[in-house]
Amino acid sequence: MLSLGNAFDEAELDAWRDRAVRLAGEDVDKSGYAVELKIDGAAVSLTYDDGVFTIGATRGNGSIGEVVTENLRTVRDVPLRLIGNHPAGRIEIRGEVYMPFDAFEKMNEARVQAGEPVFANPRNSAAGSLRQLDPAVTARRPLRFFGYSVAAADPATFDFRTQWDLLEQLAAWGIPVAPHRARYKKMEDVHKWAHNIEHNVRGQLNFAIDGAVVKIDSLRLQDDLGVVGGRDPRWAIARKFAPDIAETKLLAIKVNVGRTGALNPYAELEPVEIGGVIVKLATLHNEDLIRAKDLRVGDIVQVKRAGEVIPQIIASVPEKSEPRGEPWRMPPNCPSCGTPVERDDEEVAIYCPNVACPGRRLEALVHFASRGAMDIRGLSYARIDQLIAAGLVNDAADIYSLTGEQLLSLEGYAGKGTEALLSAIETSKAQPLSRLLGALGIRHVGSIAAQLLARHFGTIDEIARASSAEIGSVRGVGPIIAEGVVRFFSDASAMQLVEKLRAAGVNLSEPHQVAAGGALAGKTVVITGTLPTLTRPKATEAVESAGGRVTSSVSKATSFVVAGAEAGSKLEKARSLGVEVIDEAELLSRIATGERD
Ligand SMILES: [Zn+2]
Repeated sequence: MLSLGNAFDEAELDAWRDRAVRLAGEDVDKSGYAVELKIDGAAVSLTYDDGVFTIGATRGNGSIGEVVTENLRTVRDVPLRLIGNHPAGRIEIRGEVYMPFDAFEKMNEARVQAGEPVFANPRNSAAGSLRQLDPAVTARRPLRFFGYSVAAADPATFDFRTQWDLLEQLAAWGIPVAPHRARYKKMEDVHKWAHNIEHNVRGQLNFAIDGAVVKIDSLRLQDDLGVVGGRDPRWAIARKFAPDIAETKLLAIKVNVGRTGALNPYAELEPVEIGGVIVKLATLHNEDLIRAKDLRVGDIVQVKRAGEVIPQIIASVPEKSEPRGEPWRMPPNCPSCGTPVERDDEEVAIYCPNVACPGRRLEALVHFASRGAMDIRGLSYARIDQLIAAGLVNDAADIYSLTGEQLLSLEGYAGKGTEALLSAIETSKAQPLSRLLGALGIRHVGSIAAQLLARHFGTIDEIARASSAEIGSVRGVGPIIAEGVVRFFSDASAMQLVEKLRAAGVNLSEPHQVAAGGALAGKTVVITGTLPTLTRPKATEAVESAGGRVTSSVSKATSFVVAGAEAGSKLEKARSLGVEVIDEAELLSRIATGERD
C-alpha cells in the first residue's frame, strides 16, 4: 500500500501540480483531478477471488500487514461477494475501516455501564477492533468501510481509465465509496472544493477525516508518473486541513436537570476556535464517563467538534495540566432545587427525585405535549418556554386552565392559531391513561411500560395504590420500573398534579382492550438492528404482550421483520424472501391500534 505526501495549503498543492506537469511533460489539467475525502480510520486490503472475499489484511508497515479475514467478514459494509459484472481472477480492493462518531459514543456509554474502560477515539478503536482475536468481539463493534482503490496483477483486467471511473466501478460492485467525491479539470476548482470540505462539510460528517486526497484522474498518466521509492506516488497527494481538535482549559464542570430529573454534567471551556467556530461548552454525559476519562477542573483538555453534535472532550492532557485538581464528584444536591440527589443502582444516571423541580419543568412540559405523549399540536418548545416565562404554566395541569384571553395577551398569538391550540388542548384530555402515564415523565416508564401498566390496572388510582410487588408482577414490567412508579406516586406533589388533572377533566383511565389475544396474535416476528428507543428485551416483551412470537431467524413463515439501525444479514434475508420490513414506530402503532396486519 502507498503512503501519500502532504500539502498543507493551496500553494503546496499548486507546487505538487507543477512538479507533475514537469515530470509528465504534459499539462496535467487535461486529465483533470479526482478528489476524495481522506477517511481517518484503519487502512485495510480486501482480496477477492472471482468476486468472492477471500483474504482481508491490515496495512501493517505497507508491505506486510496482519491477516484479519474473519474479523473483516463481520464488517457489514465489506461485501462477501461482489455484485454486478466483476472480473475473473484475483483483485485487491483497498480502503479504510472506520467507526462513525454516533456509534462510537454509544459504544463508549455502554462500556461505562459495563464497567469497561472507554476508547480514546474512533480511529484507535477501529484499529483495535480489527485486531481482536475473537471475531465475535469485532462483530459487536460498529465498524464501517469505504473503498478507494483496486489493483490486479494484470492491468487489462479493468476497463476503466480514470480514478473517477474506478470509484464508480467500486460502487457498482457493492463497495461503499465515501461521499463528496468529485472531479475537476482545473486546480482552482479543486481548491474551492477543498475549502468547502474543510469549512462546511467536515463539521457535519458522522466520521473523522484527516484531509482530502487529490489524484490525477487519468490512470495512464498515473502510470507514467509512477511511484518514488516504491511507496510515494507522484500522482496523488493528501490535502491536509487545520485540525478539528483543539486544546483548551476545562474551566468548570456544571450540571443541568433533564425532564425525568436526570442530572447531566457539561463542561465550560476557555473559548477556543475549532474549524472556524468558537467552542465554549462540551457535553460530558455522566459522572462515570468523567471518571473513566479522569477529567478534572483546571485540566488542559482535547476538544473535538464533530457532526452536528455538541463538542466532546476526548481526553485531558495530564502533562500540561500539572498541578491537577481533585477528581470531580456530582454535587450532593440538585443544582436547581437543592433536593438531595439519588443514584440509580441499575443505571449510571444520577437524578433529582423532586417531581416539582423547576430545573426539569421546561423539558418535562415539552415531553408532556409531544406527539408520542398527550399530542397537543401547536404547543411547541418555544411556546411552552413563553408560557412558563409569563407565569401561566407551572405544571402540566396548568395547560388545561389556559384561556383564549391569556393566550391572546402573549406575543405571537392570533385568533385562529389560539383557537386551534385550545381545541388541541381540549382534545388531549381524552387521551387514554397509557398516553398520560408516558407523558408524566415517570422514571423508567416509556411508552411500552405505560401501556402495560394502563392495561393491567385500568385507572391511575389503581396504579397509585399498587405496591411495588404488584406492579413488578405485571408481565413485561420489572422491579426497576415498579420502583420508579412507586417513588413517583409516593411524592405528594405528584398526587397534587394528578388531582389537578382530574379536576381539569383529563381522562385517567384506559379503555377496555378488545380481547382475542392481542394485536399481534399468531404473528411471528424477527427483530434486528438497534431500534431507536426500545432495547431488544423491551421490544420482545412488547411483541409478546400483544400476543406475537419473536424468533431469531428470518424464514418464509416470518410475518414481518422489525429493523433498526445497523440491521445486517437478517434484513437482507427478509428482503430476498419478500418478508415485510417495518420500523419501531410502525411496530408500536400496530401494537397500540390493534391492527391485524
Ligand atoms: Zn431538583
